[in-house]
Amino acid sequence: MTQTVSRRPLDPIALADGIRSGNRASLARAITLVESRKADHRAIARQLVQDLLPLTGKALRVGITGVPGVGKSTTIDQLGSNLTAQGHKVAVLAVDPSSTRTGGSILGDKTRMAQLAVDSNAFIRPSPSAGTLGGVAAKTRETMLLCEAAGFDVILVETVGIGQSETTVADMVDFFLVLMLPGAGDELQGIKKGVLEIADMIAVNKADGEGALRARAAASDYRAALHILAPRSLTWSPPVVTISGLANEGLQEMWAQVELHRDKMSATGEFQKRRADQQVAWMWDLLQQRMMEALTGNASTAGRLKQLEAQVRNGDTAVSVAVEEIASIIGV
Ligand code: GDP
Repeated sequence: MTQTVSRRPLDPIALADGIRSGNRASLARAITLVESRKADHRAIARQLVQDLLPLTGKALRVGITGVPGVGKSTTIDQLGSNLTAQGHKVAVLAVDPSSTRTGGSILGDKTRMAQLAVDSNAFIRPSPSAGTLGGVAAKTRETMLLCEAAGFDVILVETVGIGQSETTVADMVDFFLVLMLPGAGDELQGIKKGVLEIADMIAVNKADGEGALRARAAASDYRAALHILAPRSLTWSPPVVTISGLANEGLQEMWAQVELHRDKMSATGEFQKRRADQQVAWMWDLLQQRMMEALTGNASTAGRLKQLEAQVRNGDTAVSVAVEEIASIIGV
């Protein structure tokens, strides 16, 4: 017998109720709506997020980055499992702008996190493939809110350092953790990318077996490097720890730092301010994206934009004149 897969009608109220009661299928469905390109889906997603807003904001949001092979998935799998064992509910999200090119995300992949994948208190969601980094980030932010409404109290957002993705993730979390390899002559891998400037903590991974000594040496190099940077906050100096995600060593101490950061920053109000600033920046980001979409999404406008671009390229039209015409198209 062939089974007809009937699409259940979208019932936003039932979905919201499902999420409130922590139903994973409802959560997954809502995230699909957030990620959808269809206007009606997105409208429902917006309403859902708005309705669930009072239930959001209670999780600790932690971004985790590092080069491929540094041990992100191993560490997240282990750290997440430690946290669920302590009674937390952990959601793992990913921001991978390259997923739009490769057609699949290497981040947030369940097969990379074997323990968490079968953990009923964990939820893993790969990166949305949404065209641009801004698009991916916008969807991840909304997904984060939905996860919080579903009762997840720890959100781990994984990313690799492609382009601006590290900064983008740092801008959506409370704490940004940078994983590093024990140095092999390249101790200061992160400095050139400015990642140290946005790190709230550095963890040198693979501090086990033969790597232990090198990890400690790398850690003191990073401490020295951080020391010469202007502090981002007077309340928090980013610590450097050594861990072994594989051997589950140092992860408890590492998490204690994340909680200490929250406590200290909450006491001074910086924690709340960071979130409020992020909300406002998100609003402007989204508005910018919408305006660009409105411009480029309309076939006739898009054609005129191409012409103007060509004229500017050839030097036939002044940039200011072209911009003036475009502005008049959108009525500003
Ligand atoms: P990712 O690409 O950053 O997600 O890195 P993976 O978690 O996939 O790890 C890459 C490789 O490093 C795998 O072979 C892991 O087993 C290994 N690895 C990860 N963490 C550790 C660790 O703490 N110690 C050691 N010795 N190996 C590790």
